[in-house]
Amino acid sequence: MQNTPQLSAFPLGNKNDAYAKYFIGQSYLAPLALKPIPTFNVTFEPGCRNNWHIHHASRGGGQLLICVWGRGYYQEWGKPARELKPGDVVVIPPGVKHWHGAAKDSWFQHIAQEIPGEDSSNEWLEPVDDEQYGKLG
Ligand code: MN
Repeated sequence: MQNTPQLSAFPLGNKNDAYAKYFIGQSYLAPLALKPIPTFNVTFEPGCRNNWHIHHASRGGGQLLICVWGRGYYQEWGKPARELKPGDVVVIPPGVKHWHGAAKDSWFQHIAQEIPGEDSSNEWLEPVDDEQYGKLG
């Protein structure tokens, strides 16, 4: 994408190359704070979403999403997708398989906070099925 739009007041950051293999489409990552809670602004171009993944931890952990711009989705395995708009907050418990990303026709931006925990790690799984994603508005 040559021209990225100005979205929320939070910075866009750089292309999310480090995690690109776990995403479909282009995303951008802007670190906002590293301590005490790692906090990032994540931007998804239209159609961009991350693969199914799990935030593991033996104690604490999980992820908090604060939606700041556009329209997107959050889905837990076996449940219908939840549409997300600015002001929505998603609490993702550790151990829950899920994905998050943009709607196909909208940029989407959320703040992501990585909740500190013990033995925490991220497990990246399969991409979100194109047909299933395509049925979302
Ligand atoms: Mn997540």
